[in-house]
Amino acid sequence: MDGQEVLMLILIFVIGDVLIYFVWKNVGNKRVVTPIIPEEGSIREVLLDRVRFFKNLKPAQQDVFLKRVVYFLHTTKISAEKGSVITDEHRVLVAASATIPLFHFETWSYEYLDEVLIYPGTFNEKYNTQEANRNILGMVGDGVMHRKMILSLPALLSGFSKNSDSNTAIHEFVHLIDKADGEVDGVPEYLIPKELIQPWMEEMEQTISEIRRNKSDIRDYEATNNGEFLAVVSEYFFQKPKMLKADHPELYELLDEIYCAKK
Ligand SMILES: [Zn+2]
Repeated sequence: MDGQEVLMLILIFVIGDVLIYFVWKNVGNKRVVTPIIPEEGSIREVLLDRVRFFKNLKPAQQDVFLKRVVYFLHTTKISAEKGSVITDEHRVLVAASATIPLFHFETWSYEYLDEVLIYPGTFNEKYNTQEANRNILGMVGDGVMHRKMILSLPALLSGFSKNSDSNTAIHEFVHLIDKADGEVDGVPEYLIPKELIQPWMEEMEQTISEIRRNKSDIRDYEATNNGEFLAVVSEYFFQKPKMLKADHPELYELLDEIYCAKK
């Protein structure tokens, strides 16, 4: 063997090891959970009572929605943390928030989420629910919180209160969808058709600069960055579609295409 062949062999071994590492890392990540699944009748009751998006669906679509809620509950652990107490209704509302943005994508599910932690209230960056200056309502985890989402219980509930135009849980699930391509950048590459990426980026830029110049009625927080922009306008899109359509028709049209809502 000459020097070149030895080098090739070493390279093959190194690449092989890297491949084995990644395959091993990505197989079997989805933990088996012991789910708490309410009966279908009571799930439907909660959905009809609390979830406007569900009420507006046709009966056949409602059946599909319900099945997806059940699937989510089967595959995702929902845990009460830091002293919070959760009920079946709360579990159904988490699953409904997950189902709403992906409803028109039949083959999609949250394969990169294992657990949703429910905190009793707002929290800070150290996941503390007691200290002063806690202002976080929900987050998609990173690092030790990888594959987890945290939601504040009051924020979850207020998203489904009558006439609420914001919805923390939907917001966080949109971040998770955005993150699926590796980056929370306001461009959910798995959902958005390629030809729509450019118009969508332009619309984001234009609306964000309007917000910064105080010319828009949309919440200021949305102008923080593109990821927040997508999450906040998606809340409006699912909570108050008619209002968004009247106030921002172009933005509405693009979201309608991104979420395939015309189907
Ligand atoms: Zn956010």
